[in-house]
Amino acid sequence: MEWIVLGSGTAVSRGPRSPAGYAARLGSAHLVFDTGPAKLLRMGEAGISFERLTDIFYTHLHPDHVADLVAILFARNNPGVECSERLTLWGPEALPAHLESLRAAHGRWVEARHYRLEALAFPGEARGEADGHPWRVSSRPVAHTPGALGYRLEADGRALAYSGDTGPCPGIVALCRDVDLAVLECSFPDEEAVEGHLSPGRCGRIAREAGARRLLLTHLYPACEALDVAALARREFDGEVLVAGDLMRVAV
Ligand SMILES: [Zn+2]
Ligand SMILES: [Zn+2]
Repeated sequence: MEWIVLGSGTAVSRGPRSPAGYAARLGSAHLVFDTGPAKLLRMGEAGISFERLTDIFYTHLHPDHVADLVAILFARNNPGVECSERLTLWGPEALPAHLESLRAAHGRWVEARHYRLEALAFPGEARGEADGHPWRVSSRPVAHTPGALGYRLEADGRALAYSGDTGPCPGIVALCRDVDLAVLECSFPDEEAVEGHLSPGRCGRIAREAGARRLLLTHLYPACEALDVAALARREFDGEVLVAGDLMRVAV
């Protein structure tokens, strides 16, 4: 499996980092996690077909994680675009109401015309198959907005966890337990750490406590850009630490 960073940035997107979005490649298929602004563009740059998407997992409904959903739905309706027969959106309790609000705002432009579209509150665990690769996704509540989720993906005999946005909490440690790759948000420097977000030191401690093998730091606000966040995380964690960039690919 391969983890593709579609956006390593945040709400404050100054480039070259764009807001949150990721894809896990299984064979020639992709499971997508979050679709913040510019994710339709980044998918194209990464060779990921929005037409073929079947499952998108949302961690929470902040615009830097969901804004391009409307662009993806509109793109799938365009004449000449042939889509997968279903698209399932998984996420927090409020996700179905969010889809309804998009329908209220955009009407038939985002109604699925030629395929089945569903938004589901994530049931805690989901299983499926992508290009012949069985996958299992599980979730835990994390410490960010009410209902925010982190995810754990298991496929090809490997496991990874993606924090979405979170502060330190038991949920993120449980998701990262013994994973091959922990993908953790690293919003702010340790001295400016706030509730509901992580910092390099917090990320390192979570990875160590959970026994993760590798750590990928992402979701960097500008204040973190000037820092060697990997070195700061390594003070707490002696596994490999990577810093995400847009369109980076990590073999898991
Ligand atoms: Zn965010
Ligand atoms: Zn957020």
